[in-house]
Amino acid sequence: MSGTHIALAGLGKRFGNTTAVDALTTDLLPGAFAALLGPSGCGKSTTLAMIAGLIDPDAGDIRFDGLSILTVAAERRPVGLVFQKPLLFPHLNVADNVAFGLRMRRLDRAATRRRVDTMLERVQLADLAHRRVGELSGGQEQRVALARALVLEPQVLLLDEPFSQLDATLRAEMRTLLRQLHDESDVTTVFVTHDQAEAVEIADTITLLIDGRLAGQGEPQLFYTRPPSLAAARFFGATNEITGCVAAGEFTSDDRTIHQPTPLPDGRAVLIIRPEALRLQATSGPGTLGGTTVAARFAGTHLVLDVALDTGRILRVHQPIDQPVRLGSPTHLRIAATEGSIFAEPGDE
Ligand code: ATP
Repeated sequence: MSGTHIALAGLGKRFGNTTAVDALTTDLLPGAFAALLGPSGCGKSTTLAMIAGLIDPDAGDIRFDGLSILTVAAERRPVGLVFQKPLLFPHLNVADNVAFGLRMRRLDRAATRRRVDTMLERVQLADLAHRRVGELSGGQEQRVALARALVLEPQVLLLDEPFSQLDATLRAEMRTLLRQLHDESDVTTVFVTHDQAEAVEIADTITLLIDGRLAGQGEPQLFYTRPPSLAAARFFGATNEITGCVAAGEFTSDDRTIHQPTPLPDGRAVLIIRPEALRLQATSGPGTLGGTTVAARFAGTHLVLDVALDTGRILRVHQPIDQPVRLGSPTHLRIAATEGSIFAEPGDE
């Protein structure tokens, strides 16, 4: 099985005056493990519900392998769904919960039994097949929910914050299990989360939504090394911002020491740079910012320094542990010419 290609084309949804999803166009490749990431209220759940057929879009289209599914009723869409709360049938045991969908499809008893047994093995619940679901832990309940969705062999698996109610250790365990289940079946998987660390850890590709709009899409690493937008860089956090202006194809920082070429049009702009791309040096030179190290903290693999620039702005720097730190002494921050990403300031695009 190679999974289904999902295309969202100009997808939109309003609730009264609120635009939950705004002209969202994106492709999720067959067999992808995609995280739909963004802050609370950015439209992730609404997007997922539209793919599942639980909410009708106001605009745009959703295509599976090139065919629109908008006229296909939710129960006929080839999707499996897992929510934050598992919504299991409390009066049925684990195996019967997992078998439910197959029975609705009138699969014969022996085949149902075989598929349920195999699925329970895959989610490591074979020992608990006859336990009532009311007697399960949170992690076990989510395993049942995963098994119930996957036993129907959906083309697409949709998960809305499925592990957010579990503790950190269990969450990590469930992520590993889910990743394994995905890799065995190649089902195209869309995983909603507001937690960028979770998205980076589990997904092959991240689709970032901010205010209902696409704020970037790509491999997790891209969001760190080359953030696709200023909003994306800010959402991922731990970045430094150096403000300045673009004129005639060159960005110049407000203190006039940093110059970098850019294709942006003239106007106010921000150079985004990650703490590990900044280096301290004793002397000033081209491309350096003058400042003072005002704080240093040991962070296991590196030191985290706060450097106050002469302009008053504080930049965060990661430095190897073996290099000396002189708190309160003047220093200079070097930025390599190829480092950082420049964006127009919002309202100045
Ligand atoms: P969270 O992470 O908090 O679940 P989200 O990114 O999933 O957020 P959505 O639940 O899709 O966001 O909501 C997007 C916007 O649409 C929000 O402003 C929300 O208040 C609004 N919204 C969602 N569902 C409805 C509804 N049924 N009626 C009115 N407004 C809604």
